[in-house]
Amino acid sequence: MKKRILSGMRPTGKLHLGHYWGVLTNWVALQEEFECFYMVADWHALTSEWKGGSARAIPGNARDNVADWIAAGVDPEKSTIFVQSAVPQHAELHLILSCLTPLGWLERVPTYKEAQQKLAEKGVDNYAFLGYPVLQAADILLYKGNVVPVGEDQLPHLELTREIARRFNSNFGAEVFPEPQGRLTPNPRLQGLDGQRMSKSYGNTIDLGEDPAAVEKKVKGMFTDPNRKKRSDPGNPAICNVFAYHGILNAKERHARIEMDCREAKIGCVECKAELAGKMLDWVRPLQERRKALLSDPAKLDAILERGNARASEVAAQTMKEVREAVFSSR
Ligand code: SF4
Repeated sequence: MKKRILSGMRPTGKLHLGHYWGVLTNWVALQEEFECFYMVADWHALTSEWKGGSARAIPGNARDNVADWIAAGVDPEKSTIFVQSAVPQHAELHLILSCLTPLGWLERVPTYKEAQQKLAEKGVDNYAFLGYPVLQAADILLYKGNVVPVGEDQLPHLELTREIARRFNSNFGAEVFPEPQGRLTPNPRLQGLDGQRMSKSYGNTIDLGEDPAAVEKKVKGMFTDPNRKKRSDPGNPAICNVFAYHGILNAKERHARIEMDCREAKIGCVECKAELAGKMLDWVRPLQERRKALLSDPAKLDAILERGNARASEVAAQTMKEVREAVFSSR
């Protein structure tokens, strides 16, 4: 039997290149080795996007994101693609696990204070946002996930899930939950177009569904080696963001050639960026065609999600049967 993986994304907007290289390539590879459950984390999105207009955008974002997942290679025949809110057992398990999670554990999660400050204008001083890691634990444990793909910064969340699983098992004297292990994602860390951390809120991303003219314009404005003032100045690709993107889109030989040409001032930044824009458009075109085809066939997307929701519900119902037995049976 394959080990099981649970991973998800919050549908808070359109997906960009960072999601593709940071998450989706990994998801696609994992489907060969694991039984994968990929979740549209719409309840998680609601913890920060609860204000009227933002909340109403969640269902549309969810469909758009799923189209990107599939266009990127997540295969609904191999993986279960589902929507968290379509499986109410997530909320039920969240409530039960909340009862046995001390407040101190949540207040100590290192990313909590930082996220609260960063998202202050969204009103995340709410109860649900503090309990976010408990909902995450419920998501993973509901599917008895053995493995969770994580970035370094998410390791404390996963440790919390393990502590909650241990506490549940020992408190109720039943081995219901396995302790999930983290698998660090091996993907390259791409900076945003301006060389800062890539984030939609900084306006430094390229969406997977971005219009070609906008891609060209954004690449033209990318951050390069700031010391290279004239075409005849030798450049330093090591500090050039355009060069990092070339590394992802080019074969090793071409990448090495660009490095040499830049250092010897044989190539100018305008030319270098034009080549990058062309490569990016060639690369993204087939993905955009698949994405467009999916979004123009709502019945197909509905059917994929209905099938995924049904499969997820089946597993969730079985786990909750065991949970209720452990918690409430009078044995
Ligand atoms: S030539 Fe290319 S790699 Fe070199 S500094 Fe300009 S954009 Fe960067």
